[in-house]
Amino acid sequence: MAGNSYVFKIQRYSIHDGPGIRTTLFFQGCPLSCQWCHNPESQAKPLESNQEDMDKAAAVLMKEIVKDLIFYDDSGGGVTFSGGEPLGQPQLLFRLLDLCRKKEIHTCLDTSGYGDVNLLLRAAQKAELILYDIKVIDDRAHQKYTGKSVAPVLDNLKQLSKQKADVRLRFPLIPGMTDSIENLDGIIVFLKENTIYRDIHILPFHKAGEGKYQALNMKNFMKDIQVPSEKKVAAIKKQFESQGFTTTIGG
Ligand code: SF4
Repeated sequence: MAGNSYVFKIQRYSIHDGPGIRTTLFFQGCPLSCQWCHNPESQAKPLESNQEDMDKAAAVLMKEIVKDLIFYDDSGGGVTFSGGEPLGQPQLLFRLLDLCRKKEIHTCLDTSGYGDVNLLLRAAQKAELILYDIKVIDDRAHQKYTGKSVAPVLDNLKQLSKQKADVRLRFPLIPGMTDSIENLDGIIVFLKENTIYRDIHILPFHKAGEGKYQALNMKNFMKDIQVPSEKKVAAIKKQFESQGFTTTIGG
């Protein structure tokens, strides 16, 4: 464990989790179980905790975070709280957001959007940027591929939009699961009708993390699925852009 049992990994010098050079903290525990998850070890619940434990954990983690202050300043970077699902440990998340703010460190929350709306809106007031996944629009398909309904993810995004929160949408391009024309059309219509967000970061599926499934004795649904071709990525990009969205590949 990285410093405590509530965060399973700390990645320094990350350039894919928000602007600039960042330290990414991966929180333990996720309510979803996406079939393409690169961090299946994140899904199990963290230990039970109280405020005192959280304060101690936050202090340990801040010591790691401040090591790279100079890189954040030079690159416009900062800290990203990822997972797992950081909203699943709100005491720790809010404590760290407050401590970072005191030190004027830029913060991103990387969330699946599946969580309590009040916690999410509170986090959005404390973090500078929200990285928000939009995966599958059809509820049955979302349940099949992630284990949970898409309804809270969509409702929560509407609320963030009402609050005009700074949100970077991320679309995981997963062959055979998220890449159909119908799914993209559905996402585009939803975003246009319900949100102010018109910028999408497309995250093509990659094979990193495959070995973890074997090590954890978990079923690997992606074993025979290949990474998307450049042609496919270009087609997805074009579909979003033809509807007035700006796109970025990655991050
Ligand atoms: S939301 Fe992220 S961490 Fe959670 S199961 Fe899905 S891919 Fe994994």
